[in-house]
Amino acid sequence: MGIFGQKEVVAFDFETTGVDPGFDRIIEIGAVKVFDDGRRETFKRLVNPQRPVPFYVKQLTGIDDSMLSEAEPIELVLPQFLDFLGDALLIGHNVSFDLGFLFENCRALGLRIPRNRVVDTLSLARVLYPTAVNHQLETLAALFEVELVRAHRAYYDALATLGVAEKLWQKLLSLPEPLFDQLEELIFAAGASDLEFYWRLAREHRMFRENLPPPPKVNSDKLVVLQNELGEPTSESVDFDPDIVEAYFSENSPLGTVLKNFKVRSQQQDMAAAVTQAFIDGELLMVEAGTGVGKSFAYLVPALFWSAANGEKVVVSTYTKALQEQLFFKDLPVLRKVLPFDFYALLLKGKGNYICLYRLERYMRDPMSLTSREREGLIYIASWISETESGDISENTSFINNFRYSLWEKVRADGHTCIGKLCPYYRDCFVYKIRRKISEAQMLIVNHALLISDLGGAILGDYSYLIVDEAHKLDVVAVELLGGEISIWRVKSVLDGIYKEAAVPSGVLSYIMTALGDQSLDEQFERIKANISFIRECADKFFSELALNMELIYHWQKQKYQVRKRYDYINPVYKSIKDRGDELIAALKSLYTELDIFIDNLGEPQNEELRKYFEELKGERAKLMELMDDLLVVLSPDEPDVVYWMESPTSPDSIDARLCWAPLDVGQVLNTELYERLGAAVFTSATLAIAEDFSYYLERLGLVYAPRERVRTLLLGSPYDYETQLRIVVTEFMPSPRELERFIDKTSALVRETSRKFRKGTMVLFTSHDSLRQIYESLYYDFQQVGIKLLGQGFSGSLAAISRTFIEDVESVLLGTESFWQGIDIPGKSLELLILTKLPFPVPDDPYIEAMSERLQRCGRSPFEEFIVPQAVIRFRQGVGRLIRSETDRGVLAILDKRIITMRYGEKFISSLPKKPEIAKSLDEVYQIVAEHLG
Ligand code: SF4
Repeated sequence: MGIFGQKEVVAFDFETTGVDPGFDRIIEIGAVKVFDDGRRETFKRLVNPQRPVPFYVKQLTGIDDSMLSEAEPIELVLPQFLDFLGDALLIGHNVSFDLGFLFENCRALGLRIPRNRVVDTLSLARVLYPTAVNHQLETLAALFEVELVRAHRAYYDALATLGVAEKLWQKLLSLPEPLFDQLEELIFAAGASDLEFYWRLAREHRMFRENLPPPPKVNSDKLVVLQNELGEPTSESVDFDPDIVEAYFSENSPLGTVLKNFKVRSQQQDMAAAVTQAFIDGELLMVEAGTGVGKSFAYLVPALFWSAANGEKVVVSTYTKALQEQLFFKDLPVLRKVLPFDFYALLLKGKGNYICLYRLERYMRDPMSLTSREREGLIYIASWISETESGDISENTSFINNFRYSLWEKVRADGHTCIGKLCPYYRDCFVYKIRRKISEAQMLIVNHALLISDLGGAILGDYSYLIVDEAHKLDVVAVELLGGEISIWRVKSVLDGIYKEAAVPSGVLSYIMTALGDQSLDEQFERIKANISFIRECADKFFSELALNMELIYHWQKQKYQVRKRYDYINPVYKSIKDRGDELIAALKSLYTELDIFIDNLGEPQNEELRKYFEELKGERAKLMELMDDLLVVLSPDEPDVVYWMESPTSPDSIDARLCWAPLDVGQVLNTELYERLGAAVFTSATLAIAEDFSYYLERLGLVYAPRERVRTLLLGSPYDYETQLRIVVTEFMPSPRELERFIDKTSALVRETSRKFRKGTMVLFTSHDSLRQIYESLYYDFQQVGIKLLGQGFSGSLAAISRTFIEDVESVLLGTESFWQGIDIPGKSLELLILTKLPFPVPDDPYIEAMSERLQRCGRSPFEEFIVPQAVIRFRQGVGRLIRSETDRGVLAILDKRIITMRYGEKFISSLPKKPEIAKSLDEVYQIVAEHLG
């Protein structure tokens, strides 16, 4: 028998003019038929769609109108294709897309709709290879080293699909019996009919084989394997000698032997010396290090020497995952080659990223206590858990891209309900494995979120030395994590952990009652159940009324974006839901009391199983307490240094309205809970000063609360030669952004004309998604005609995909908002023209901005000068920093917001630019600057 145990299979693929089967047309059909004796037949046809092929399809497929003009129309090709298919089993990649076109065309032409059985290599690959980098055909072909001669041409795609299908079939047959059975059970429990079909085919086939085949060989570069350890624990000790540290940044540095582009940079030397001194003197050092200084080595080298000499752990925290990975996978391995000692470093994430084997086992045993969607998600966890060494869910791309939410809440490690040493998986627990290693590590690479959520040191343990890179984001993360929110989902999640009524009840209480095996606590159990169902009713009413009253007052259903409004005691929405909130708190309190009584009556548990459940129940009770405390916070909106706001649901039929809060002054918390116990700390970023003044971030990060003699600042410019590498132009002739319609028209014209004329990699940064959309729509067809690829955030795929395409196509134009203003690194010719449309002032009616402004006003300070402008300048500088990323980059920065030269505050922006801007009075002058500088 052949692949999938069939006599004949047909792998097929269509190319089309778009994604809508009701509107778009097929332009190419490719298929390969394979018989069980190995014979093959092929089907290759271009199809005349009788309409022009859109530009992006031409670019993707290479198929243009001239190639199709002589081709037969679908009326003639489709009957031949149906004959070719016969009754064979069909195989496709993401086959529902192709089937949609097949069925729609059959319907339209009055042809019989084929009823062949179908295998989708996408859905099978997601289960069998959950850690593949992604599950696109090209990636899977590379994973199995299957040839894909020309992606996005139907015949070659069909051929590659067939090759991938053969490997998947081999993998399916090779699964060890227990795993095969376990997945089969879960697949049937989830009612995943496509997977059921594949498993049935494999089951039939496996019965007749004496030996299972080996799994196919794979290219491990196409799998996500998270490595979080570097080096070995060591007790090696060295002297801490500032001169030796300095030598790493001077002529003949050992770094020069491993880094191709190593150069002596005075700024890097100054920074390394300052970091060294900060460690010696116990300082809190803030360093602005311009692009190209090489700041990561400037702090890593002294930190590692300090750690090796003193046996002290150093924690390095970053905002972005990209920097975290660069430090861990690039910079630290370089240093392991050149430092005279080895070191042991860990890359760490928060506990919630790791699977809890104990909780997982419960749902694997009893999947029917989950929803059907969650049961489906469990399949992808089960197939991954047998292979993972890290237990970090970000390896599992199948799961995180499709299922992560409610199921992950149930199976991830959770500080409250972890039963520690009582857990049967304690020895193998991924979280504890990491924790054991933390105590031996010399360096921990973490992110700001973990740093802030672990101020008590529960995960990171004791440490005295801290380096915060991308420090300009530490306050933002702190605001987010030191505040909180109350939502219906949070209430339900807490209740579900205790008890959830269903055909198969779940929640720790239901397990306790089963394990008890007598009726002594039945009465209390019933009372708790009644309490829980009453709370569910109260919560539904509370959040429905919150959503309804927000609609009555703020009309959120008519708004394009989610509505966020501050509230206090006299806010009408708050007043309208306050009683419901009190009712909810009272009900939660009553549940808490009942749980207390239940726990008391349970006494000392009689056996191991009950002891475990008992500990879990105490964890659930702690979560309930936290929920009550937080509910009290949002229902008592009277703390002067806290901002309270409500958020509307994001879809009209949802009741997912939320109450949120955040502290205004996170600096004080950071100082008392973190800096006071540190031996030394370094805060660094390319943007920390406003017009060479650090006051803003000294206050935001709480360094103003530390003893003055401990705090030092250092401003280091970039080593790049901005005078020759960069031209900056302010377009004085543009209308003010306040005249929005005209401004959008003129911006659109400027982007259109400069892109057509110069064909340079161009990034246009916006402050509003609406403006971006209008310009994207106005340019789209024009650019199609002239063959310029236009990429728009929100229109052209994920941020990673947009960045990739932008880097590859050096003539493309990228329109971006939020995420493109910072953290993205586009080298060389891919980005030569950067256009900043507006000065990036924060939205004035954002609840946090509003509350911060009022707070400053109350203290007699100017919110605009001291908060709004600094925020905008930092973001502006981040945006500007996208352009020149190396010593060889050249670029033109165009600033379209003329307020930078007409308003008083503009001076702050201008003085934070790397050089003085030129003023253009006309578009021709802009052309001239671009032509002179970029050619
Ligand atoms: S030790 Fe805690 S986190 Fe680890 S598997 Fe057991 S219960 Fe889960």
